[in-house]
Amino acid sequence: MYEIAVIGCGVIGLTSALSIQERLKNVKVTIFTRDKSPNTTGDIAAGYWEPYMVGDTPPAQITRWGKATYDYILKLWKEGKAKEAGISLIISRIISDRKDVENPFWKDVVLGYSNLSREYLDKFGKVGNRKFISGFEFLSFTWEASIFLPFLEQKFLMNGGVIVRKEIRDFKELEDFDVIVNCTGLDAKDLTGDTKLCPLRGQIARVSASWMFYLFLIDSEHDRSCYVIPNIHCVILGGTSQPAYNLEVDEVDKKNIFRNCSELVPALATAEVIKHQVGLRPGRERVRLEIEIKPGGKNGLLRIVHNYGHGGAGITLSIGCAEDCAKLVERALNQTNLRNKL
Ligand SMILES: Cc1cc2nc3c(=O)[nH]c(=O)nc-3n(C[C@H](O)[C@H](O)[C@H](O)COP(=O)(O)OP(=O)(O)OC[C@H]3O[C@@H](n4cnc5c(N)ncnc54)[C@H](O)[C@@H]3O)c2cc1C
Repeated sequence: MYEIAVIGCGVIGLTSALSIQERLKNVKVTIFTRDKSPNTTGDIAAGYWEPYMVGDTPPAQITRWGKATYDYILKLWKEGKAKEAGISLIISRIISDRKDVENPFWKDVVLGYSNLSREYLDKFGKVGNRKFISGFEFLSFTWEASIFLPFLEQKFLMNGGVIVRKEIRDFKELEDFDVIVNCTGLDAKDLTGDTKLCPLRGQIARVSASWMFYLFLIDSEHDRSCYVIPNIHCVILGGTSQPAYNLEVDEVDKKNIFRNCSELVPALATAEVIKHQVGLRPGRERVRLEIEIKPGGKNGLLRIVHNYGHGGAGITLSIGCAEDCAKLVERALNQTNLRNKL
């Protein structure tokens, strides 16, 4: 029986832990985490499926990881698990006032992709006196972390997994484990010293607007970017993406979010606010999903698999990355001559 330690119990840690349990039968998986749901970055997210803010991660990888998640959510939905897993199927429209916007490279992954007509763009922009140049729609999902994280946690525990509430300050604390999996999101910066990680500060408002049934994102070159994403118990209005650690709700951001969203849906201006929230996306030039071998640990080797830096798409890419992470754990366990490579 191999002992695997996963650090972090956000969407990336939990999906990775489950995937390891499912792929490798002779393992015991223990999650070490400082916080868990409802106090992870994913709990602030809208849970919307779209590859977003993923730096220069190669398109082929994003497409493959995103597709695995899309197919997984669709499968759960078809199995009738929408309610317990926090899944809502929804048509998403992404609309831009920029010239020369290309179709997204991942468009073949999703169902129902089509470009929006000139007539639709004109009618949509008319309310706010906006001129939109291009747009597309497709069938997306919201997969709400505050519902699916407890759902996945139960599955993990039922499979024999263990969760320990503990902050890990050094990988050496876990040197008795065969493999350590690092899913600490933005905090991987402290644990690994990775200077490529930086916060992408996201401020949003959760409002009560049960009459709001459609989802749209506006991509604007005139400081009018915004999104309106319905969730089961609220609607999320966003948002910002700033390279900052500030977790305070900013009044200017608040004003801009309401101005931009209500320009296109006027009733949102007076929607009751449930809460304003700020979260830090783990921004990186590309997702880090790889094996690192250090001296120390069992047989003189500390085998670490890193899985962090998913920017604004941790939920969107989670299942694909978790599957690859499990393969890397298997590879790390099977490598017998690693010592020579140090
Ligand atoms: C406003 C906002 C909206 C978003 N909307 C979307 C969206 O619609 N769709 C989407 O796909 N993504 C969205 N995202 C991005 C998504 O939330 C993140 O990419 C994702 O949550 C990152 O997950 P993670 O598990 O890597 O990190 P986290 O959720 O931050 O989890 C890290 C875990 O590691 C633990 N940890 C950290 N350091 C240590 C340590 N030293 N020892 C022990 N435990 C430790 C933490 O306690 C936590 O459990 C959004 C983000 C924000 C802020």
